[in-house]
Amino acid sequence: MTGSPLFELQHVTHVFGGRERFTALKDACLRLHEGEFVVLVGPSGCGKSTLLRILTGLLPPTEGHVLYRGQPMHGVNPHVTLVFQTFALFPWMTVQQNVEIALKARGVPPVERTARATELLDRVGLDGFESAYPRELSGGMRQKVGFARAMAVEPELLCLDEPFSSLDVLSAEALRRELLELWTSGKIPTKTILMVTHNIEEAVLLADRIVIMAKAPGRVVTELPVDLPYPRRHKTTAFLALVDEVYGLLATQAPSVRGLPAAAAGEPGYIRGLPAITIHDLAGLVEHLTEIPGHRADLFRLAEELKMDTKHFLELTDATTLLGFAAIAEGDITLTPLGETFAEASILARKEIFASRLRRLPMFQWLVHLLKASERQALTWDMVHTALELEFAPEEADRQLATLVTWGRYAELLTYDDRTGVIALEAKEV
Ligand code: ADP
Ligand code: MG
Repeated sequence: MTGSPLFELQHVTHVFGGRERFTALKDACLRLHEGEFVVLVGPSGCGKSTLLRILTGLLPPTEGHVLYRGQPMHGVNPHVTLVFQTFALFPWMTVQQNVEIALKARGVPPVERTARATELLDRVGLDGFESAYPRELSGGMRQKVGFARAMAVEPELLCLDEPFSSLDVLSAEALRRELLELWTSGKIPTKTILMVTHNIEEAVLLADRIVIMAKAPGRVVTELPVDLPYPRRHKTTAFLALVDEVYGLLATQAPSVRGLPAAAAGEPGYIRGLPAITIHDLAGLVEHLTEIPGHRADLFRLAEELKMDTKHFLELTDATTLLGFAAIAEGDITLTPLGETFAEASILARKEIFASRLRRLPMFQWLVHLLKASERQALTWDMVHTALELEFAPEEADRQLATLVTWGRYAELLTYDDRTGVIALEAKEV
């Protein structure tokens, strides 16, 4: 990116006071240029919302500077608007009045307000709902009122904090498309958008640049440019490769300041067997670790706590690191940001995360290769078993195949028909 940034965070640290001081953001640097759509991703509590609030000037940083067009900012920044996940609409005001109040705050004279508000509501697709009250609207429509209100402010920087996360899938998709349309068509005066999301596909769908954060302490770790033209299509190879890369970055980040080697998160370079672990046990361990301070536990103490036999315990921790959900070093196991994301994710998002990791495992790639090479992208259990017996003893081949199929079905990458014994790729994978 050339030229000087519109906004810049220089070495921003934020420490919350109180009885125990807590560093929510440490030494964060971020530059936002005109024309950029930047997306922040990272586990809960890594300081994303704090960073947005600092940019708006609502929260003064403990250390560091916020610059607007190269000049240090003090107090609330009139060029930035923040849209929250749940909008603070005034329930006793109509949709129209909710937008007009923002225009009033900006000093727009009363005679102009009505027309401007109508036009803004029109732009987000809410014409006809001007006189409705917020309670009469769906979540998606309320969100649109929030957008209209944010746009009434005509901010140069529009900050969106998980704007779609409380919506159902279809409303989120529609609203995302509308935001993108407003943005790419230049119908809004906004020069830059900074959005927070937990949804990696959404990040790749919208961003010019994805900034990845980690926690304990909250910090900016790395970033990734997204050079795909709009509108982006979900299932293209380039799209999926980027989604996978973001998951990979979240998985291999050092989970704490003390730092674990990235390699500890483990991507085996050779074909090795899978630990025979159920998703239930895997999720159980990840969830258990989130309940421990620092998301870190001594392996021996953990094994005792979980009352598992050693072999099973080792397979479980092995599966967790193999998938990039945790890292092991110095006798401790620590959740990675990906593990944290998995723990917090919805059922569907968990499957998506798991699928993205499973696709990376050589063992799974081997099976996919085998299926793709077969005539109908399907093989019987026995055929795959025979192939596995070239590498494993018969009993171990059984375990391997059972794990592969269970994991593949959970990730919705494979189907298995118990009656016919046929293993196949899911239609979307073919
Ligand atoms: P994110 O948006 O990435 O989930 P936040 O920026 O909301 O994270 O919070 C970062 C960390 O700071 C969290 O651990 C949170 O508990 C803490 N935090 C946020 N606001 C306050 C506050 N007002 N006082 C104390 N701690 C806070
Ligand atoms: Mg937040």
